[in-house]
Amino acid sequence: MQTLTIGDVIITSIIECDGPWRRPRDMFPACDPDIGQRHLAELDPVVDDPASDRMVITYQTFVVRTPKHGILVDTGTGDDRGCPAPMDFPKRPWLDGFRAAGLQFDAIDYVRCTHLHIDHCGWNTILRNGRWVPTFPKAKYVFHEREYPAWEEATKRGDNPSDNVRLYNCLPIVEAGQALLADDDYSLEATVWLTPTVGHSPSRCCVIIKSRGQRSVMTGDLMHHALQCREPDWSTIFDWDAKEAAASRRRFGGSVADTGTVVQPIHFPNPTTARVRADGNRFRYESVR
Ligand SMILES: [Zn+2]
Repeated sequence: MQTLTIGDVIITSIIECDGPWRRPRDMFPACDPDIGQRHLAELDPVVDDPASDRMVITYQTFVVRTPKHGILVDTGTGDDRGCPAPMDFPKRPWLDGFRAAGLQFDAIDYVRCTHLHIDHCGWNTILRNGRWVPTFPKAKYVFHEREYPAWEEATKRGDNPSDNVRLYNCLPIVEAGQALLADDDYSLEATVWLTPTVGHSPSRCCVIIKSRGQRSVMTGDLMHHALQCREPDWSTIFDWDAKEAAASRRRFGGSVADTGTVVQPIHFPNPTTARVRADGNRFRYESVR
C-alpha cells in the first residue's frame, strides 16, 4: 500500500505475507463459480491469480501516525506460535517492515485489533525467555469490552478448543495491565474512533479516521475480497454469523458509497485502498493509486 494521507494523519502498511490463497468456492459457501469468474474478470487484476484459480490475500498491519499518537491497527499472525497453514509463512518480513517504517516498539501508543482472530492480534505479544509479553511496552491495547469476554465464554463452553489466541495474544496484555476494554464507538483521539460492524466475529469494529474533512475506514474482516462488493451476501466460512456479516457489509457499503471515503480492508492486496461506488444492489470497489 502506498502511503495514504488523511488530513494530518499518515497511514502506511506493514505486510506480513501476500499472494494466491484460496479459491472463491472454498471461501464463500454461497459462491456460484461462474458468477465469481465473471466478476473477477472485471475486477482490478491484483485481486486474483488466474493461473492457480486463487484469490490474492494479504496479511498486514496498518500504521497510523497522527500528530499525537502512533497507532497500529491489526497485528498479523505474530511469531513462534506454530500457526497452521496457510499462516505458517516466514515472520521476518513483518519485523523488517516495522523497522523500515522507522518505528520502535516503544513508540507505539495504541494497538487496536479490529477483532481477536489469529491473523489480527499476533504481534500483540512476543516470546521472551519462555514467556509471552506485550511487544509494545508503552501501548494501550484496545479490545472490545464484549469481544474479549465472548472468547472467554467460548472457551468455557468448549467451543474454542485450542484457546491459543486468547492465551498467547490477549491474556498477557490483560495481565500486564495494558488492556483497555472499549465500547462500540470508543475514541482513541478526536481523529480516530471505532464503529461496530458485527457478524464476522463477536462485537467486531471498524476504525474510522477523519482529519481536515477527509475520511478513511479500516474495515478489518468486514470483507476479505473485492468479490464481496459485487456479491455482498457472500459471507465467508470464517464468519461467526453469516447473515449478520452480510447485513453489515450492505449497511457499510451503503454508508460509504459515493461519499469520497477511502476504504482499507486488511486482506486486500496492494494498493488496498479504494473508494466504493453504488451499483444497483451491489457495489464497485475502485482502487486508489
Ligand atoms: Zn482476517
